[in-house]
Amino acid sequence: MDNVINCPQCGRLFVKYLREHCDVCFKEEEQQYDKVYRFIRKSENRNATIIDVSEATSVSENKIIYFIHQGRIRVKGFPNFTYPCDGCQKPINDSRLCQDCKTRIMADLSIEDLIKKKQQEVLPSYHTEDK
Ligand SMILES: [Zn+2]
Ligand SMILES: [Zn+2]
Repeated sequence: MDNVINCPQCGRLFVKYLREHCDVCFKEEEQQYDKVYRFIRKSENRNATIIDVSEATSVSENKIIYFIHQGRIRVKGFPNFTYPCDGCQKPINDSRLCQDCKTRIMADLSIEDLIKKKQQEVLPSYHTEDK
């Protein structure tokens, strides 16, 4: 059968459909997400650190960071809630990268954009001007 793989999390066989994990792990993850989300939503937890959240919800720090990376949990505005930058491991509390890494990557990107633009300029344009 096609698309039958072992769940990377628990090793169970499952049909890979829209998800990377089997149903059991998916449900577990949803429950974990729910716990974290509910915890940080409370205003009295505004000053929580990632360790506090992990302890209160029994969800691992890695998992919490994973939710943040997915964009499902936002901790901007939580002064003590920091996690490592994807680029340099510096503590951050918004998106995946610190400002330095963002600037660096943006600089790299704009060079690529420039090259792309140059390439497009030499390509014939099929763009029509219909109104
Ligand atoms: Zn699984
Ligand atoms: Zn960084």
